[in-house]
Amino acid sequence: MNNSGEHTNIKKILIIGGVAGGATAAARMRRLDETAEITVLEKGPYVSFANCGLPYFISKDIQRRSSLLLQTPEGFFSRYRVDVKVNTEAVEIKRDEKIVVARTSSGDEEISYDKLLLAQGGSPVVPRLPGVTSEHVFKLWTIPDMDRIHAFIEEKKPVHAVIAGGGFIGLEMAEALSARGIAVTVVELAPQVMILMDAEFGAMIKNGLEERGIQVKTHVGLSEIRSNSVLLSDGSILDSGMVLLSVGVRPELKLAKAAGLEIGTSGGLIVDETMRTNDPDIYAAGDMVEITNKVHGRKVRIPLAGPANRQGRIAATNILGSRMVYRGALGTSVVKLFNSTAASTGLSEKAAREAGFDVGVSYLFKDNHVTYYPGGRPLALKLVYDKKTARLLGGQAYGEAGVEKRIDVLATALHGKMTLEDLSELDLAYAPPYNSANDPLNLAAFVGLNNITNFSPLRTPSETLDELRHDGGIILDVRTLGEQSKAPLHNALLIPADEIRDRIDEIPKEKTIYILSKDGFLGHTTLQILKANGWTRVFNIAGGYLAARWVDGWCFHK
Ligand SMILES: Cc1cc2nc3c(=O)[nH]c(=O)nc-3n(C[C@H](O)[C@H](O)[C@H](O)COP(=O)(O)OP(=O)(O)OC[C@H]3O[C@@H](n4cnc5c(N)ncnc54)[C@H](O)[C@@H]3O)c2cc1C
Repeated sequence: MNNSGEHTNIKKILIIGGVAGGATAAARMRRLDETAEITVLEKGPYVSFANCGLPYFISKDIQRRSSLLLQTPEGFFSRYRVDVKVNTEAVEIKRDEKIVVARTSSGDEEISYDKLLLAQGGSPVVPRLPGVTSEHVFKLWTIPDMDRIHAFIEEKKPVHAVIAGGGFIGLEMAEALSARGIAVTVVELAPQVMILMDAEFGAMIKNGLEERGIQVKTHVGLSEIRSNSVLLSDGSILDSGMVLLSVGVRPELKLAKAAGLEIGTSGGLIVDETMRTNDPDIYAAGDMVEITNKVHGRKVRIPLAGPANRQGRIAATNILGSRMVYRGALGTSVVKLFNSTAASTGLSEKAAREAGFDVGVSYLFKDNHVTYYPGGRPLALKLVYDKKTARLLGGQAYGEAGVEKRIDVLATALHGKMTLEDLSELDLAYAPPYNSANDPLNLAAFVGLNNITNFSPLRTPSETLDELRHDGGIILDVRTLGEQSKAPLHNALLIPADEIRDRIDEIPKEKTIYILSKDGFLGHTTLQILKANGWTRVFNIAGGYLAARWVDGWCFHK
């Protein structure tokens, strides 16, 4: 009988992989059933280590290496009576016999199971390049990887490092290596860093890194790694005493494929909502599985720690006979980049368009709290929604304070399938040191509602450029003279917002007008004045100059 009082015949449970999904599942299983025999096979030397913390040991933010080791095999046994076999690799699953072949340095052993849980994670992609196996080339995935990097820096004291890949691990490591006094260049094949965010956020992040002395090269890859330099695909050569490869993660599927388990269209192992594979006695969790994206309902891979832990918990529960379903994830993520934070949840604008939504976008550029209280820090927020239904689809934020709070609130709203109207009504905490009376999310929802009701129709900076090419419209630049002179835009009609009523006759009525203000706010006010005076084809450029400056095709001269 399990601890929920239900009868199960499960005696032997075997788990392959002993970190996020696997370790969580093992602990949960013991809490659910005091009698089951639970064994974990882990091919590495450590069980349950904090892989997300590895960059912070390199940076020396985390000083004690031991704090990354969350459990030991001995600790697991004494607390949970779970048999953890480290340095033990599962090399074959014999499904017919319900046996796993486990390999150690002293030979192979066959271990039988009633139920098997695969929690093997993924492995970092290593591109085939000349020089890639050199001693000064690293990946960061495990504690031994971290130890190697740390020892190399201590011993060889490299002056320059090249990081291939501008995803979150690459960028966290850019900060970490920079904290160790190393001059870092990030090389990214895609047109932007943080490819899951929209291009303007990639550009803001790149700019923020460059301000911190990190060189960022996009649209370019590594071609060859040499002893003290790298050759890039554009023919240039960079000094580099060490190279970190951080170019993606592949799900670890060799065993599963060989055992005939089904792989899905996204490239992950197929599981049902109980985390069961096509074999009723084999479950899976974590980076290796494909799951449902909660916004568009398609199958995706979301290799992140939160989903892996929750999937492990749910798989454990189902394996032991109770029922718990996993409905999918939003892909909510956050990354610290020096004194800034970038975070996102749900669909980016580009992902929402690819998924076929009628996409609307609001931007908000505000301080994280009222400006009259000292210490406010700038925050850039983008909200993505469906114009037809007003349903929220996703959001992104970047700034120095309050970023993750907005994204977590938005993630909650997405989970609840909320609309712009719901978000506009959210009653969020406010006092001057923390917020404004309307949270930036409330305001972004107001902007979205004004857009979809056509009260204040928006065009994104990219849409504006596209439409201008076809409709012969004009940009009306209503920024203050000071704002215009710092970043002038040629070929625009310049009338500061405060002069619009007096100079309204200068604005052609027969043309489509796209209003550019600093951040969209005075654009909204100007639009109402024009509408009241008979203009019919007039749009506010979403996010104004502060969004457009990061968008390809917009050219503000300095
Ligand atoms: C440097 C770094 C930083 C990260 N930062 C974040 C972060 O800030 N936020 C976030 O959400 N996510 C982060 N992640 C991702 C997160 O760690 C993973 O999504 C999560 O660990 C996946 O859990 P998992 O159980 O699927 O796989 P893992 O935790 O990777 O565990 C899989 C284990 O299975 C073992 N294994 C594989 N095959 C076998 C086999 N045949 N036999 C025995 N053992 C096997 C592996 O050795 C491995 O230890 C980070 C990852 C890294 C590497």
